[in-house]
Amino acid sequence: MPRTIRILPDSVVNQIAAGEVVERPASVVKELVENSLDAGARTIEIQLRSGGKRLIRVSDDGSGMSREDALLALDRHATSKIGSAEDLRGVPTFGFRGEALPSIASVSRFALETYANGEEVGTRIRARGGTITAVEEVSRTRGTTVAVENLFFNAPARGKFLKAAAAEARVVSEAISALALAQPSVGFSLTSDDRTLLDLPSSTDVVDRIGALWGEEVAEQLLAVEAREGSLGVRGVIQRPDATRPGFRRAYLFLRDRPFREPSLLQAADRGYRTTVPREHRPWLFLFLEADPATVDVNVHPSKAEVRFSDRHGIETLVEDAIRTALEGEDSAATLDHRPRAPRLQVRERDAGAHGGEESEEESQMALFLASRSPGEPASQADSNVQAREERQGSDRQSLDRPDGEVPPRLWQVHRSWILAEVRDGLLLIDQHAAHERVLFEEIMRSFQDGEEAGQRLLFPLTIRLTPAEFQVVEDLGGLLLRTGFEVEGFGGDTVIVHAVPTPHPYFDAERCFREMIEELAHGSELVRAAGNQHERVAMSFACKAAVKAGQILDPREIRELFERLFETELPYHDVHGRPTTVRLSRGELERKFGR
Ligand code: ADP
Ligand code: MG
Repeated sequence: MPRTIRILPDSVVNQIAAGEVVERPASVVKELVENSLDAGARTIEIQLRSGGKRLIRVSDDGSGMSREDALLALDRHATSKIGSAEDLRGVPTFGFRGEALPSIASVSRFALETYANGEEVGTRIRARGGTITAVEEVSRTRGTTVAVENLFFNAPARGKFLKAAAAEARVVSEAISALALAQPSVGFSLTSDDRTLLDLPSSTDVVDRIGALWGEEVAEQLLAVEAREGSLGVRGVIQRPDATRPGFRRAYLFLRDRPFREPSLLQAADRGYRTTVPREHRPWLFLFLEADPATVDVNVHPSKAEVRFSDRHGIETLVEDAIRTALEGEDSAATLDHRPRAPRLQVRERDAGAHGGEESEEESQMALFLASRSPGEPASQADSNVQAREERQGSDRQSLDRPDGEVPPRLWQVHRSWILAEVRDGLLLIDQHAAHERVLFEEIMRSFQDGEEAGQRLLFPLTIRLTPAEFQVVEDLGGLLLRTGFEVEGFGGDTVIVHAVPTPHPYFDAERCFREMIEELAHGSELVRAAGNQHERVAMSFACKAAVKAGQILDPREIRELFERLFETELPYHDVHGRPTTVRLSRGELERKFGR
């Protein structure tokens, strides 16, 4: 019998591989830019024609290659980045499969120019559909330029799936933005048919880079996040709750500076925001994760856009908790300042991984440490994350309690609705209703756990008629209602008797609160729909209906008590509707306003 099985020629194998790695211009750009980053480039220029369909050119000032290496690089599975399967664990470089260049070359007219220090002369290699057509000398500065023309010219079926030039250019721009966020110290530029789409000079940290990408205002609405648990770590910046909006969001996750996608981690982050933003709001997130390389698999897919964590629950919890903790601090409060302190995330100098980048775990952790600094301070003073965290958390709690040594802050009620507080760093305006809501919400949630019952027995019980639906709610809630302080008993039909009621403040109207709360729980509302579970639903509804109202005059003792209890809560700066309780105005801003 004649042999029917044979080994495919390289050119065919490469085209098959290209099917996985090279989907559209953006995937080519991603591979080439990652190679440039792996080569230690400081500046990377990307040019497109017709959205990359006619031309993609990526130039870098990285290490470059010798002629021998350049020729090898076009061979399948030729890589300088790993040598054995062992090395696959925790690869510090973007590349390691050695597939990109041969795959791209197999579906385009390809040219590579490169020059490495110590070489006599640079090299230019041309290929067509994967076959090398010329190897020449060229004179150029150190670095590499790859030009990819007529992508898919020999695979017309695939070319047909490409979108219009503008759409392809947009996807390229997105891909570069993600890499640029991971590498703030590297300068990037992207032009498309001679229009500049991105111009990102080398910057000091990710917040600067965010400013360069989407404007200073965005950068000023950010809040630093940092947490560590065993070998897992997360740091980054997230949007301040009062700046969040519904709809479009930017959310970036990085693992060892590699952008990746993981919807469940974004959901964990959103859980961290719970009650601090309205439900439909989509906070922007920029999170850099760390994990022991032995516990993550980045080689899930050739495009490496997915990552598998062996301790998935652990990393999700860490992200949720880190965000929660960040939202506890003063920095998360709404501000009147034009230029509030922007958080700082120090840049880690990236080694040219392929060329001797044996960076220890220790170092990489040190260098990414967060640091917060005030506007005037030079970035070099940015220190360890511990210090930054202490500053962030300590500054406010202390300054609130003791703005001036041991003296408690001075407080005033204004317009029967707000409390004005003088604190070390400026002024706080506190919404009395929102603040009390937060206080009650957390108290009730605690009493659900501890089983405390807070009601006061009435001399004359209330008799309240409900609708059948409402009566059902009262029946279903039984125990939870009791914990809020309402002791309720059925009285036949849809009528109930209330024997005991909570006393959240002296101006409390128990019957009205009970009716409003039961109505809300029976018929739903935006607020209770935002709750994560039944406990939260009841606590939110109770907090909202029971809190002291705007317009209520408070005496000085009540004002102080409310203020103090607010700052004993976990999230003092946010009510339960996702609105701020507090707006702050810093001394710096006041001084600026008065031209000091
Ligand atoms: P991988 O990145 O997975 O190693 P590639 O096919 O993308 O595979 O690249 C093959 C090799 O070519 C790389 O390992 C690297 O040594 C070299 N190379 C590619 N692009 C560049 C570049 N811009 N500068 C320097 N060397 C490069
Ligand atoms: Mg590569």
